[in-house]
Amino acid sequence: MIKITRARFLKHSALGFGAALLLAACGGEEPAATSDDSAASDPATAETASGDTWTVGTEPAFPPFESQDADGELEGFDIDIMRAIGEQAGAEVEFSSLPFDGLIPALQNGSVDAAISAMTITEERAQTVDFSRPYFKAGLAIAVEEENTEIQSFEDLQNKRIAVQLGTTGAEEATKIEGAEISQFDSAPLALQELANGNVDAVINDAPVTLDAINSGNISGLKVVGELLTEEYYGIALPQGSENVEAVNAALGEIIENGTYAEIYQKWFGSEPSGELPESVDAAL
Ligand code: GLN
Repeated sequence: MIKITRARFLKHSALGFGAALLLAACGGEEPAATSDDSAASDPATAETASGDTWTVGTEPAFPPFESQDADGELEGFDIDIMRAIGEQAGAEVEFSSLPFDGLIPALQNGSVDAAISAMTITEERAQTVDFSRPYFKAGLAIAVEEENTEIQSFEDLQNKRIAVQLGTTGAEEATKIEGAEISQFDSAPLALQELANGNVDAVINDAPVTLDAINSGNISGLKVVGELLTEEYYGIALPQGSENVEAVNAALGEIIENGTYAEIYQKWFGSEPSGELPESVDAAL
């Protein structure tokens, strides 16, 4: 269903508030995020800047993509990328913290306008939400305790105890291991902590996040082994049929072109972005 927020309706129709109310009365909008409503119920707000506010869901326990600093403020690569996209597209971005497995339902029921959360573009998800063009290339890695010499590859995981994060591609990958005993956690740091505590034999999680946890010293006594299990691309997810897909893609293309993306990449990964990203969602599937 195409979501028409009142703010956007005002911006594009120039018919004013009465017409927006009429639209709402006709059932032309679904229950929108509260921020959309508050921006739109005040015509003055709707006219300022771009007039559009995007409520963007994220699960902020996945550094360096999204986390909370000491003051509880959101920070990370995804946060900066989404803010830059909003700025480029002329939309206000308001983040909403949600559990990772609650992001797609929130997109489906219209309580958020987008989600950025290191979310892998998958066939299955693409059937329920729309994705932007890929903005990051990642893959799944196996983590074990530093002194573990037994597990060196995916094959070695058979009949082992594996911790994963609920609703993730890592959790999906773990279901392919024969005889594995899988425990699911709400966040990746919790799964990694379970491994550090010696309660499981391995964690399957996004490589950049596991490496960040190890390199930052957030979790000690772990290492990554073997090859990456997958090649995955992250995309910004939007409700199916969202009118904002085009604006997000255009803005993302623009910040890749004008160097903003590379600056943000440098800030969080300390290096130049490696390699070109495919321009279409299909190329990421
Ligand atoms: N990239 C993984 C997925 O999409 C994990 C994402 C996350 O935990 N934030 O399933």
